[in-house]
Amino acid sequence: MGNFVDVKELNKQNKYIQNVKLLVEGRGLKAFVYTLGCQQNEADSEKIMGTLQKMGYIITENEEEADILMVNTCAIRDHAEKRALSIVGRFKHYKAKNPDIIIGVCGCMSAQEHQREKLKHSYHYVDFTFGTGALHRLPEFVYNALNKKKRYFDIDSDTPAIAEGVDPLRASSYRAWVSIMYGCNNFCTYCIVPYVRGRERSRKMEDILSEIKDLVNKGYKDITLLGQNVNSYGKDLEEKTNIAALLNEISKIEGEFWIHLMTSHPKDASDEMIEAIKSSPRTSGHFHLPLQSGSDEILKKMNRHYDLEKYLSIIEKLRKDNEKITLTTDIIVGFPNESEEDFQKTLEVIKRVKYDSIFSFIYSPRKGTPAASMDNQIPESEKHRRYDILCDVQNDISREINESYIGTVQKVLVDGKSKNNEGVYTSRTQGNKIVHFECENDYTGTFKNVKITRADTFALYGEII
Ligand code: SF4
Repeated sequence: MGNFVDVKELNKQNKYIQNVKLLVEGRGLKAFVYTLGCQQNEADSEKIMGTLQKMGYIITENEEEADILMVNTCAIRDHAEKRALSIVGRFKHYKAKNPDIIIGVCGCMSAQEHQREKLKHSYHYVDFTFGTGALHRLPEFVYNALNKKKRYFDIDSDTPAIAEGVDPLRASSYRAWVSIMYGCNNFCTYCIVPYVRGRERSRKMEDILSEIKDLVNKGYKDITLLGQNVNSYGKDLEEKTNIAALLNEISKIEGEFWIHLMTSHPKDASDEMIEAIKSSPRTSGHFHLPLQSGSDEILKKMNRHYDLEKYLSIIEKLRKDNEKITLTTDIIVGFPNESEEDFQKTLEVIKRVKYDSIFSFIYSPRKGTPAASMDNQIPESEKHRRYDILCDVQNDISREINESYIGTVQKVLVDGKSKNNEGVYTSRTQGNKIVHFECENDYTGTFKNVKITRADTFALYGEII
């Protein structure tokens, strides 16, 4: 199969779509998709919903009225897996009431053998499971379930490939995800992703550019390029290319839109990529660079392939002649063997770099990863203590940075009415800062300028001008 699903297979799935449509259309059947996990999963769920709609299902947000229920699972933490299983458990009652209901489980959790077995043997009402690499085969799985074929637990996702032409049903009309690559080669010792999403596979540049052009023509204003490590984009393609070349091509597309990248690995952050980020106003406003730990010892145990010196040199380059860039990062606390001294080193980096915000995680052992069987696991209470300290330190920094915006004018993309405050709209800057403002008109999905009058740890507040 190589890295790309061949035309024969895509045609076969298109036939299944037509066959399901014949069985479903005109009956008002509804489909519900529950999504857990990261942006990649949200993007996958948009493709699942797009496919279900193509087959004649009406997408609903009310699980109680659904004829097909799907859970798109996450495996990154123990809590996410427990949550997925509890949602699948909840669906049992619907099937008990109506045996014709179809239940499918997909995503990272269901790509693991032990979880697949659990779903097969302990959740008898689940009709099929598949991993992230078999998403394009959803029509076949649904068709078989509708025809009461045997329950199916896919293992093909162990060799996942790229399927072009699976159209997403996008949740937003102005913010979009565009996957540029799938999988990961890095095997960080704490991470399950390479085991459940396979090795790195890049989409062809022409396919990515044509998707972005289409989105911009449709009025999309904020596009996030997705991949487990976008910095290594293109290395696996026959016609070698890289992320810098992709960004340079994107910058030639006409229109007013922002580009974000999620997520990147410091070991692959080349000077060429940094220059490409800085040279375009579409990308120069924000960069997310996961640090994970400020201790070289722990970085080595995590198999991250960079040290603090290298990491800080990237930050310096990103900020050189580009001081306004907002920087965000990921931090894991309580990795096995992390001493108080190691933890203090992480805090020192946080204070030194002064990130706009951080995504902090308590280390969660993942079955099958090297870190799960390392000695010196940190007790839960200690992990939580460190997590709380980290959040307190970062909150002070975020507030201080946010307060420095008071009096400035910020360009924002409006997201709509605030859920909690009547007459208040919410929006984001290019650097992902949340900005609330009062307004009588609905400018959702458009760029506006807001004068910042107030700020706290988590948001800016202002007046539209
Ligand atoms: S780079 Fe490391 S943390 Fe990120 S997906 Fe790959 S293995 Fe996981």
